[in-house]
Amino acid sequence: MKRRVSIFGSTGSIGQNTVDLINRNPDDYDVIALTGASNIQQLARDAIRLCADVAITADVSRLDDLRTALDGSGIDSEAGSSAINEAGHRPTDWVMSAIVGAAGLTPGLHALQQGATVALANKESLVCAGELILQTAKQNGAQLLPVDSEHSGVFQALAGEDISTVDRIIITASGGAFRDWPLEKLAHATLAQASSHPNWDMGQRITIDSASMFNKAMEIIETKEYFGISANKIEVLVHPESLIHALVGFNDGALIAHVGPTDMRHAIGYALHWPKRQPLPVERLDFARIGTFSFRAPDEKRWPALRLAREVMERGGLAGTVFNAAKEVALNGFVSGDISFINMAEIVDKVLNSVAVDHIDAPMTLDNIMYVDQISRNAAINEIKQRAG
Ligand code: NAD
Ligand code: MG
Repeated sequence: MKRRVSIFGSTGSIGQNTVDLINRNPDDYDVIALTGASNIQQLARDAIRLCADVAITADVSRLDDLRTALDGSGIDSEAGSSAINEAGHRPTDWVMSAIVGAAGLTPGLHALQQGATVALANKESLVCAGELILQTAKQNGAQLLPVDSEHSGVFQALAGEDISTVDRIIITASGGAFRDWPLEKLAHATLAQASSHPNWDMGQRITIDSASMFNKAMEIIETKEYFGISANKIEVLVHPESLIHALVGFNDGALIAHVGPTDMRHAIGYALHWPKRQPLPVERLDFARIGTFSFRAPDEKRWPALRLAREVMERGGLAGTVFNAAKEVALNGFVSGDISFINMAEIVDKVLNSVAVDHIDAPMTLDNIMYVDQISRNAAINEIKQRAG
């Protein structure tokens, strides 16, 4: 029987890698919904290629363009964030959640509510709403599978193991664009410089988050939430080659590492075929050619985001929602040239220590998350204005 699949964020970097894998065995899948935002031609092309039921753009002003691009294909077109959220309710067996930012939370949550298997690339979901996501999955018998390379690596290393025997989880970080920069130069880092990653080819936002290590900060929080492990057992290790994605340390001293090429089709494919393994079109590593793996300790002066992640985990509750919202706005500020690279962490720190104080203990409902997300965004916008003005 064909598996019904949807790809939320199909036009992005993760989305396109998912489309690539599905398109290699199109007869195995019945594609329900593809979603995108401004890249209408790509969205329509993939919807036609994969014979999707519906293509949805987040951008309402582009609905006519989408209709035109799909003309004669028989594929439905919709627009707006509510249409994307509703797509999560369409009966599906497997969903790729790969929208960037907090916008990815609701459609993924809806997919879990109908008991679908959700491959979670959208890290903001677990950072903003970890408890809600996990509870929803449990209550509805839905399977949540990690797609981030580090978490997929941990998940694979834990297969058949008892989590209570885990002493530590080490997730690696390349160090991003500014790993070797003198600290005093960081204040002058440009958008173009922050947007180039030494090893991975990813969306622009996550690439900048890799340079600031906000990406790794989110991943520490994700690790705590997804694997239910205490924060003090999670370590970050800088590994410039990005070939070891994660290591799990057990109580007998053994470490199981996940090693693989820097190709997200591995983690995506693992989640697509789980619980089986299937051949994937990724490079096979040649260790003799690679020669060495190197490691260093992360420096919190260079990457203050790592300290902020620890703070978020200590505070608990909705602190992750505040952190993510402030980070998204600060990132927008850097992308649009209103603030400098190092201002981003300062703004998140400031917002975390203002908004968080009053609001993080509210119960973790979707309404409370949306409310705290909004006031955190407003607080971050004010911080940007103060710096810009
Ligand atoms: P991307 O920017 O390449 O793609 C983002 C997708 O989301 C696009 O389809 C875009 O149209 C859509 N989108 C953007 N804003 C939207 C909105 N407001 N509403 C609805 N749709 C919107 O991003 P990406 O690199 O593919 O990352 C996607 C998610 O996966 C992120 O959460 C990222 O952190 C995570 N992730 C990415 C990688 C990677 O290798 N790229 C690895 C691990 C995790
Ligand atoms: Mg990652």
